[in-house]
Amino acid sequence: MKNLLIIGAGGVSRVATVKCAMNSDTFSKITLASRTKSKCDEIAAFIKERLGVQIETAQIDADDSDAVIELIKKTGAQILLNVALPYQDLSLMDACIKARIHYIDTANYEHPDLAKFEYKEQWARNEKFKEAEILGLLGSGFDPGVTNVFCAYAQQNLFDEIHYIDILDCNAGDHGYAFATNFNPEINLREVSAKGRYWENGKWIETEPMEIKMEWDYPEIGVKDSYLLYHEELESLVKNIKGLKRIRFFMTFGQSYLTHMKCLENVGMLGIKPVMHQGREIIPIEFLKTLLPDPASLGPRTKGYTNIGCVIRGIKDGKDKQIYIYNVCNHEECYKETGAQAVSYTTGVPAMIGTKLIAKGIWQGKGVFNMEEFDAKPFMDELNSQGLPWKIIEMTPNLGE
Ligand code: NDP
Repeated sequence: MKNLLIIGAGGVSRVATVKCAMNSDTFSKITLASRTKSKCDEIAAFIKERLGVQIETAQIDADDSDAVIELIKKTGAQILLNVALPYQDLSLMDACIKARIHYIDTANYEHPDLAKFEYKEQWARNEKFKEAEILGLLGSGFDPGVTNVFCAYAQQNLFDEIHYIDILDCNAGDHGYAFATNFNPEINLREVSAKGRYWENGKWIETEPMEIKMEWDYPEIGVKDSYLLYHEELESLVKNIKGLKRIRFFMTFGQSYLTHMKCLENVGMLGIKPVMHQGREIIPIEFLKTLLPDPASLGPRTKGYTNIGCVIRGIKDGKDKQIYIYNVCNHEECYKETGAQAVSYTTGVPAMIGTKLIAKGIWQGKGVFNMEEFDAKPFMDELNSQGLPWKIIEMTPNLGE
């Protein structure tokens, strides 16, 4: 049994906290802390009513490492789950190093003033994590997260060599708004409006935003336009999947979403640099976030399914082989169970599973790790029992042709 501190109280946190409370044989005590304590209290009340489990709540500024260390001491936490924003990753990792407790997150570090994400600064803390004899698990969401585990499972159990991977992320949910983002709008729009990038034959190849499009037939959903994006799991998978020739990431977008985004971009609303407005500085994308629906409010309105998975081609026993491994999730079912829609659900459940495997000592190590560096099997088993069952389809090999 481990004492857990969860930081952040948005949609992902809500699901992760509910799921941790549902696994209270693993977590002896749960404290939920965020910038706005009332959001923690609302989640705690939901959990108390639904599950009869009492969790503690606290106010915290996660950018302030010293305050986080104080909170860790006060709560006696042994593990910290970071489901705040990517901007807080480094200050929270540093707090964990000083307090010598395990660290888990779901998204890699981004500097607030640079629309760019990479693992460099988090990987650079590897030695400090080793010295403190603690484990840092990076990217325990769905993508990154489950997609890394799918690839690791394929490498460890289904293939002798893996040559091609396409990660395919489809959200076919309908929330009824003309334009809204399914998770933090600032993080989401920064990701989607950036240049695309994929890796082939040892080199990164850059594309214009949304330059490469394909149609893909998603099981249980149907054919959707899917656009090549750069996504953070590509950086670690290129390092950890041996023999790889190409890896790409695709996400579905409807035409209305793209038209809105292009328009907002053209008028400067996606800008991350301050502009003067009536004598005071504002950051356009932050102002836009204020105008857009709170992703947490989409829960009760969203209908339909998500499908996220990996198409993997390689060699097994001397033969060419291709599989499609994926999960399908229903927005309304997720809302019924946790009060949040499927994008939060598909992230929050794996955040809990990564935390659980560390709490139980099933995933062990000293240093900073990506998901694919561990035995995938226990994680895959937990996905099936915690609400994200997966399927594998054998396909006629054609990826890379
Ligand atoms: P939200 O914006 O809904 O929630 C973020 C929460 O973090 C809010 O409660 C917010 O505070 C809190 N927070 C922000 N800054 C601070 C701070 N300085 N100190 C304390 N708390 C702070 O985001 P989501 O729940 O949608 O996303 C959470 C994380 O999950 C993000 O890092 C996102 O990138 C990641 N993600 C990962 C995915 C994956 O598949 N790997 C997919 C989707 C999201 P406040 O309480 O004031 O609102």
